[in-house]
Amino acid sequence: MIKKFIQKILGQPKAARGPVDFGKRVEIPASVHGINPALVDERALNVVRTLQDAGYEAYVVGGAVRDLLLGLRPKDFDVATDATPEEVKGLFRRAFIIGRRFRIVHVVYGRGREHEVIEVSTFRAHLDNRAAEQVKGNEKTSKSELAGMKHAVDSSGRVLRDNVWGPQDEDATRRDFTVNAMYYDPESQYLVDYHGGMQDAKKKVLRMIGDPVARYREDPVRIIRAVRFAAKLSPLGFKLESKTAKPLATMLKLLGDVPQSRLFDEMLKLLQTGHALASVAQLQELGLHKGIYPLLDVVVERADTAFVKAALADTDRRVGEEKPVAPSFLLACVLWADVKLGWDQRVANRVPPFPALQEAIDEVFDARIGDVSGRGKLAADMREIWMMQPRFEKRIGSTPFSLVEQPRFRAGFDFLRLRAEVADVELTLADWWQEFSMADDAAREDLIQQAKSEKGNSSSGPAGASKTRRAPRRRKPAAKNAAGNSGASDAGHVPSSD
Ligand code: ATP
Ligand code: MG
Repeated sequence: MIKKFIQKILGQPKAARGPVDFGKRVEIPASVHGINPALVDERALNVVRTLQDAGYEAYVVGGAVRDLLLGLRPKDFDVATDATPEEVKGLFRRAFIIGRRFRIVHVVYGRGREHEVIEVSTFRAHLDNRAAEQVKGNEKTSKSELAGMKHAVDSSGRVLRDNVWGPQDEDATRRDFTVNAMYYDPESQYLVDYHGGMQDAKKKVLRMIGDPVARYREDPVRIIRAVRFAAKLSPLGFKLESKTAKPLATMLKLLGDVPQSRLFDEMLKLLQTGHALASVAQLQELGLHKGIYPLLDVVVERADTAFVKAALADTDRRVGEEKPVAPSFLLACVLWADVKLGWDQRVANRVPPFPALQEAIDEVFDARIGDVSGRGKLAADMREIWMMQPRFEKRIGSTPFSLVEQPRFRAGFDFLRLRAEVADVELTLADWWQEFSMADDAAREDLIQQAKSEKGNSSSGPAGASKTRRAPRRRKPAAKNAAGNSGASDAGHVPSSD
């Protein structure tokens, strides 16, 4: 009892397992860490309780603990346990083992749009030969996992498969940053920390656990994660520790071995989690403006142009307001300059405007979007946003009536609004569509009459309207429509059918 108490205060002795520093277990009570237990998601709480009741260790882990400690509201909750994925799955009604390279369990609560996933991962063993040896005597490890071990690391040290289970201190040492490697037990309210994450959180330091060079080599995606957390936590004053930051630029080439779709996903996390502008700033500051992923290079290159800057700022605003964001919208903004160029060139060569736009889109898509998952839907959504743009110029007959009924009208309209903000089209055009989308049929007819009498409104050529911009008109506050949505521009660039 006394020994346990002393261990709690001083931490456990360093594990004597070769040259690796697994840190020492420190248990920090609520009176010191100050986490508000009420901020823990009740589904995460349920997962932890269920696992603990079944006799396993279970903790909230990773980014959720970091955010709770910093007083931020975690966007998702991860749980770590010593139960294997199969054991976890057996305890929940709707649980699915996912991933091959890194097997975890998704425990699902609720259905449809409102559903919530708690990710449960089994403590990972330190990855070395000893782990392979240990695994042989571990009855929890299946034959296929043993086979996987033999191929766990490639010639550059990149971890290919990571499904060997181990004790908690090894799991902690496998995580990336010290502030991401803490465990919180919502029952006892103890925070378990092996690598000084709590002190680093206080000092506002992002420090890679272990040797940063080796850790980036093991998983080069950590390079992008370093940028993401530096961006996310920069408003709180966090900085990358110099040893963690220094090798980033020189190790960039390792990303060449990472599958395109993983890079694409990481790029989206940089751009669509509310810190797009800060991420671009970090990429520039850290010398990573080129070379992570071709499409991201384009984003950084164009981040100072009015349109892309407005799109990034708009995305950050929406995420901050907890509105949905779609990759198709942001990417359509980023690649609009290429589409316009290809469109202009074709029209100059006497290709009619609509087929010219189609061709320009095909070309841009092939040149800029790699082999990523969901490519088909992404392409379709981007195409619709772009193809709608010249249709916004046709405010006659039945065109506006059918356009406004399109499932992706809102995305197309938000794109138009953003173009108007940077004087790529007239602000009055966006205002007109705003009013039209909110109006009843009679008022819509009036609006069409009004548009007819306006001069020069029938242009449908490339690049849309004239380049002159009227003095910005004060916008009416958007009235609420019957559905309670406050107008087209606020309704979101994600279609209601998503
Ligand atoms: P966010 O707030 O963006 O969700 P997060 O820290 O929770 O950030 P996740 O990608 O959700 O990040 O991962 C959860 C945890 O898993 C991390 O906090 C970290 O401990 C660990 N982790 C995830 N990816 C890696 C990686 N590539 N290398 C090492 N540890 C990782
Ligand atoms: Mg997370």
